[in-house]
Amino acid sequence: MVDAPAIELKGVKVHFASGSGRSVRAVDGVYLTVPQGVFHGIVGESGCGKTTLARAIIGLQPTNEGSIAIAGRPLADWQARDRKGLARQMQFVFQDPLGSLSRRQSIEQSLEEPLIIHRTGNSAARHKRVLELLDLVGLPQTALGRTPRSLSGGQRQRVAIARALALEPKILVCDEPLSALDVSIRAQIVALFAELQKRLGLTIVMIAHDLAIVREICTSVSVMYLGRVAEAGTTASVFADAAHPYSQALLSAVPSPDPVIEANRRRVILAGDPPSPSNPPPGCRFNTRCPLAFERCLADEPVLMPALHGGGAACHLSSATTHGQV
Ligand code: SF4
Repeated sequence: MVDAPAIELKGVKVHFASGSGRSVRAVDGVYLTVPQGVFHGIVGESGCGKTTLARAIIGLQPTNEGSIAIAGRPLADWQARDRKGLARQMQFVFQDPLGSLSRRQSIEQSLEEPLIIHRTGNSAARHKRVLELLDLVGLPQTALGRTPRSLSGGQRQRVAIARALALEPKILVCDEPLSALDVSIRAQIVALFAELQKRLGLTIVMIAHDLAIVREICTSVSVMYLGRVAEAGTTASVFADAAHPYSQALLSAVPSPDPVIEANRRRVILAGDPPSPSNPPPGCRFNTRCPLAFERCLADEPVLMPALHGGGAACHLSSATTHGQV
């Protein structure tokens, strides 16, 4: 029997009311399948809807349309009948660890709190689990009595990750967990995520703007543009041979570790800004910036078909393209 995907989205839309009277279509029909045990990156420019999408996946953001399933069960059903079960299935790591940790609590209290809420073990068992969590994220036991403010940014993010892992979830959804960190610390946290994913067999979905990091640690990737997935596939295939003109432009900015590829890298600069998500253009929503746009693109919106959502590009020029199965 094939395991249900860790996360499956079908036609998910999140629209917000705006002062202009038009709704902002932050997420506008996303299909996404993340199998169990993979490290999936979601990338795109600011405002493309990736953070809203992450919040919808974890149930913090109501959706207008579409369905979200976690481990084969509708998110709405988890939320209505088994919130504690959902918390044991999936956890979230925020961009700013100070926002997810209480400033008044000691690190020990922060790590023990989810165990108390979920009535896990007695005091001695919880203390043992807290020590395990510290070890898992590479923090010394001397951190127990400290508060988040007395730790460095990297240490705080380690605590936030440890807290997210307290209930042994199978899925972590992380919203730009590296962007608040110094560049010198990022590599350490990247290595920690990679190690935890392998060691615990986690499914990780990471919203990221650093494409070089996505290439380094993600198994698969979705490229978002103006509320939709423009392209999805295995990281290796998308980075080596992007099919969507937007992905080609976005990825062309990333230096390659391969000296031969790097010598031939040609930067594609896109003209203009993305259109407003409250007023996307008719046809392909990338047509106002696409160097390859042709007549059909102005009227006919290409869709990353559900049958291809494991990998492919939403472009009329590449409708037959599939990338390696995500
Ligand atoms: Fe460009 Fe047309 Fe493809 Fe859209 S459908 S990405 S406008 S070529």
